[in-house]
Amino acid sequence: MAKRDYYEVLGVSRQASAEEIKKAYRKLARQYHPDANPNDKDAEAKFKEIAEAYEVLSDPEKRARYDRFGHAGFDGQGFGGQGFGGFEGFGADFGGLGDIFDMFFGGGTRRRRGPEKGADLRVDLELTLEEAAFGVERDIKVPREEECTTCGGSGAAPGTKAQVCPACNGSGQIQYAQSTPFGRIVQTRTCDRCRGAGRVLEKPCPTCHGAGRVRRTRSIHVKVPPGVDSGTRLRVAGEGEPGLRGGPRGDLYVFIHVRPHKVFVRDGNDVICEVKISFAQAALGDEIEVPTLEGTAKMKVPEGTQSGTVFRLKGKGIPDVHGYGRGDQHVRVQVVTPTKLSEKQKELLREFARLSGENVPGGVEKGFFEKVRDAFIG
Ligand SMILES: [Zn+2]
Ligand SMILES: [Zn+2]
Repeated sequence: MAKRDYYEVLGVSRQASAEEIKKAYRKLARQYHPDANPNDKDAEAKFKEIAEAYEVLSDPEKRARYDRFGHAGFDGQGFGGQGFGGFEGFGADFGGLGDIFDMFFGGGTRRRRGPEKGADLRVDLELTLEEAAFGVERDIKVPREEECTTCGGSGAAPGTKAQVCPACNGSGQIQYAQSTPFGRIVQTRTCDRCRGAGRVLEKPCPTCHGAGRVRRTRSIHVKVPPGVDSGTRLRVAGEGEPGLRGGPRGDLYVFIHVRPHKVFVRDGNDVICEVKISFAQAALGDEIEVPTLEGTAKMKVPEGTQSGTVFRLKGKGIPDVHGYGRGDQHVRVQVVTPTKLSEKQKELLREFARLSGENVPGGVEKGFFEKVRDAFIG
């Protein structure tokens, strides 16, 4: 009997994703599983066919070969013998549906053995508002893995050498065959002898105990650009953990935290502050000194300024982190009501009120003009 097309067997299209193939297989495998169909030769044959199709289509390499050459791609490849040839004793010692699924979907994923980029690291950096505004350079202490200087990263004690692992011939993985109801399946696991490293040490390095790496705190120079804010993440490329098997280092991420400021509140690229002025300054107008992110600046308070008025100092805010100009500073003035007035001051204020047409309560004392008049009249 001619072999059926594997895609047809699983009922999927030739463009089916790995996920679709897996789903189709699971569904069919349950349906035709020998446990569910005792003494059914047809179901058994179907189950074998499904398993074989899945074995090929679930493996990208085999699938590509099958797509190019069809069933001929597996002639003489030992597929029948090693994979699904021997189906004798099917069902006799079958452990149940759970086992077969574990075998196919559990540890079946092959680990990549090529170079791998190292892990990224995170450090937190606290800045003052001024540092965040204008940028700063800092040396940050970062604990991370470094190549062991005693052994130069080999993990072998000085004077000795790492040997290629005899158990796995340096691949770090062991292939082993497992007997299953529908033949032997070749599985791969990490080599026990070298724990996947591919090499064994006759004498491990006394400093790193064979790891080839040691944990060290390194000082890393970081340039913080102007305009950063809390929540800004700076990436320092290539300063994370070292890579595996010759891969590049991961990256270092610096998380910025800006401390609250005594004078300024930040609002995007703007800063807001409050200054107190006297009643006389508000009424008569004045030029006052106000704090800015870069020392003090002069600001004109016009005659008749009300408490709560906000003045804008253009371009005195925070430079934009992307270089789009600079924010403003907003100065809110608060007019302070005088306290602890002297007799003379009170007298003048009463007089001021009277001139303003106000009826000042509690004015038991004689007013200024009355005193003057009294002095004249005697
Ligand atoms: Zn090994
Ligand atoms: Zn070492």
